[in-house]
Amino acid sequence: MKNVKAAIEQCRKALESCPHDAGTVSVMCTLCLGDGTLFAWDVAYCKFLSVDCPRCDQAKDNDVPEVCPCLEHFSKEIIEHAIEGKEDSYPSLSQAVSWIRPPDKLGTTLNGAAAEEQLQKLRAWAEEHKEITIPHPKAALILDLIDHGMIAFATVPGTGLVLRAKSAKEEFSRFIADLNRSYKHDDSTILTMLCFAYGVVSWKFDPVELHR
Ligand SMILES: [Zn+2]
Ligand SMILES: [Zn+2]
Repeated sequence: MKNVKAAIEQCRKALESCPHDAGTVSVMCTLCLGDGTLFAWDVAYCKFLSVDCPRCDQAKDNDVPEVCPCLEHFSKEIIEHAIEGKEDSYPSLSQAVSWIRPPDKLGTTLNGAAAEEQLQKLRAWAEEHKEITIPHPKAALILDLIDHGMIAFATVPGTGLVLRAKSAKEEFSRFIADLNRSYKHDDSTILTMLCFAYGVVSWKFDPVELHR
């Protein structure tokens, strides 16, 4: 309980000193990937329907508020407690928090020399593979995030070494806009990369799996 209280206090402090838009950044929508529409399966009529994205209703250019880098390492519950009773002062943050997807197992973060060693290996792999497909989307994303210091490693029991993105939502939006200018990937590939860049999933540091 003490830890929870301390975390809520830390979250409030982080919010006070946040240089972003009151705890949010304006980035690509995780639901419709900026399209503004979603496909839904109509069970009664057995056909796909195109529906307006519930998140992008009043959004400008399909940018939606997501929890900013200052707060993204706090859980949904902690952020909710931190702004309890002050939701009116943080309308975008309240909205962003309501759409938080629970991340997968986070494991133990690697630091210092151990992290640096893995970063070198990962860079070597990504450099080698970035242009096998045009471009290899995961490798290109990984390189971009390494260049911005936005990759962390962790060891997860039962899985092994994983990499994950940190504070990378805005960079991902820039990256994907750049990439889309030269090569438009399919939605499932973009969603795969988005989930990684937004910190929802980690990727196992396994050359075979990274190649998929
Ligand atoms: Zn911030
Ligand atoms: Zn949307």
